[in-house]
Amino acid sequence: MDKIQFNDLGAQYAALKKDIDAGIADAIAGSHFISGPQVEELEAELCAYTGRKYCVTCGNGTDALHMPLMAWNIHEGDAVFVPAFTFYASSEVVSLCGATPIFVDSCPDTFNMDPEDLKKKIAAVKAERKLTPRAIIAVDLFGQPVQFPEIEAIAKENDLLLLEDGAQGFGGGIGKQRACSFGDASATSFFPAKALGCYGDGGAVFTDDEKLYTLLKSIRVHGKGSMKYENIRVGLNSRLDTLQAAILLPKLHAFPKEDEHRNRAAQRYAAALKGKFQTPVVRDGYHSSFGYYTLKAESEEQRTCVMDALKAAGIPSIIYYPCPLHLQKVYKPLGYKEGDLPVAENLAKTVFSLPMHGYITDETIDYICGVLQKL
Ligand SMILES: *Cc1c(COP(=O)(O)O)cnc(C)c1O
Repeated sequence: MDKIQFNDLGAQYAALKKDIDAGIADAIAGSHFISGPQVEELEAELCAYTGRKYCVTCGNGTDALHMPLMAWNIHEGDAVFVPAFTFYASSEVVSLCGATPIFVDSCPDTFNMDPEDLKKKIAAVKAERKLTPRAIIAVDLFGQPVQFPEIEAIAKENDLLLLEDGAQGFGGGIGKQRACSFGDASATSFFPAKALGCYGDGGAVFTDDEKLYTLLKSIRVHGKGSMKYENIRVGLNSRLDTLQAAILLPKLHAFPKEDEHRNRAAQRYAAALKGKFQTPVVRDGYHSSFGYYTLKAESEEQRTCVMDALKAAGIPSIIYYPCPLHLQKVYKPLGYKEGDLPVAENLAKTVFSLPMHGYITDETIDYICGVLQKL
């Protein structure tokens, strides 16, 4: 067996080489490297795929989260509710705006933001009267959308804006509604390791709100007005390269097949590992795109043993994420302490992710499960 990859981008390239190479050659021949026609083509296809009216591609997933917050004028004195168990970018953008992230605990089964804890945290901020509650950033972790029916109701009840962090959620869904179409705006990332990744940095914002769409297009290019050299607000320089759009187009076309493959792989993993570990829980009517396949061990010690055994057998595994955000050094001034968000803290100590991608073979999965079953 070949060396086992955590995410086998080489296998994907081998499968899509003809179309990717042709796209790159076309983009170079066109020499329209910034905002070339492939970018608009991709935005239209992303709208069709997600069911959103508008898509604004940009430089990376972090900017895709930052841009709607800028457009909504989130600023110092504002509170934005963010899960503690996620990648730092989800809260970093709040801090970049000068606002304060208020961390929310996770559901022990799906690992996504807990709607009940969200309600408590909103009530606490309101009671304290120090910060103005403005927005919720809900993160679709590991491929499964957050409980949006509940979260959307909470946002509405409390007059909060809702931003979906779909950096890992792209391809997931609830019923017929796809990820990156929930809330007032959604963001995704095309970082190479994501389920839909390019060959560098990239991202996109989605919305159905025409006014926000216009603002986002301005923010993407230095706060431009009707033309590039008219500057009407402070923005960013955050565009998706034409080359990356050309690479993403064939990858988006292959995405549904890869998504199916990952879901079959997840079932195969679960069939072999249920009982031994807590396998991923996908809620009824929900679809996960399984960008990551994440197990939960019983304890930190068990996780260490398991990951050591995997390593010895030549199997890569990664911890997403070893430290919840409220306990990160950067947020020390916010005054959180251990025990404040017990579910998120426990997850950080016990979860680990196994190799998962759209080209993983049954043979590889069976080998990995064989190693795990023997422990
Ligand atoms: C990857 C990721 C981001 C950031 O995306 P970049 O393209 O790396 O900037 C944000 N949120 C989550 C949940 C992510 O996984």
